[in-house]
Amino acid sequence: MRLFMMAAVIIISAASLAPAATERAAMMRMLGDMEFLNLFAGQERVSTMCIGRSVLGQNIPLVIIRNPDVPVESTSRIFIICRQHGNEPASTEAMLQLIRYFFSNPKSSDVDLLRQVTFIIVPMMNPDGAMRHKRRNANNADLNRDWINQKQPETRAVTKAIKQWRPHLIIDSHELDEDNVQGDFIECLGRKSGVDPGIAAHTAEIRSLLISKLRTEGFIVRNCTVSDNRSPRLAHRYFPLTYGIPTLLIESRQSGRRFGSLDERARMHLVTAMTAARCLAGQSEIVKQEVADWWKHRTAAPLASRGGHNRTNTNNNGQPTSETKPSR
Ligand SMILES: [Zn+2]
Repeated sequence: MRLFMMAAVIIISAASLAPAATERAAMMRMLGDMEFLNLFAGQERVSTMCIGRSVLGQNIPLVIIRNPDVPVESTSRIFIICRQHGNEPASTEAMLQLIRYFFSNPKSSDVDLLRQVTFIIVPMMNPDGAMRHKRRNANNADLNRDWINQKQPETRAVTKAIKQWRPHLIIDSHELDEDNVQGDFIECLGRKSGVDPGIAAHTAEIRSLLISKLRTEGFIVRNCTVSDNRSPRLAHRYFPLTYGIPTLLIESRQSGRRFGSLDERARMHLVTAMTAARCLAGQSEIVKQEVADWWKHRTAAPLASRGGHNRTNTNNNGQPTSETKPSR
């Protein structure tokens, strides 16, 4: 409750400072959704917690969407990082829509999805940057270049959460700068990056499934592969190389030909998240059996050494009570 009351204050300030109309619109919608979240705090399917504070002391929220009757350990866990860069609003917008959907009136098939998949979402990793509509945090640091050094409180908070929740897939959601006219793309590490070949293969497989789905939804999305071992300080390179977690970088474009409105860009991130979850659950109409089998195998690894039912292994917010080692 307190977290979102504070967030609401933050967003009011942000709305008056953000220069772009779309940003203001996103912030105002976010204010509305934060108030809505506040009303439903404690609702079992959606829970929230604070995982740390930004340089300026703002809360960094974490939102869990899950089936409270199913042990988290037995589900595939998808961890979504939004807004490392404060001037890229679409992923935050998308995840607020996702959160709102799941605690309002989701379809029965999506309720069933939560028997197999847990969403773990950082909807706003860089609140200080977002408040000023700037890429960097209040220390003028690019958070997506800080994953190795961990000098910023925001990267430390998210790394700690990832180590605790041990996700099977990380999605790092971004938008291309307003002066960047590249098209939308999804990127992951290839074999030549030094990542485990099995992880490279399965990350590429799920990327191809996401792109296929996005194309059927009308998006023009390229696939990109990192074929060298440079810049492991970026999240989608750091987590596969350091912790063996398949990670995808999602980029939607904010300018140039064929760029979409904020709603349309958010829809890309929303479709990506839901499709990835269905792939992990083996529920997607486009999922391939070998991918489903691989995720099933990954899911077999215990979240914590104790095992058992989720309610006995988590605190009141559904968070694991002890930090666990990464999967490799
Ligand atoms: Zn970015």
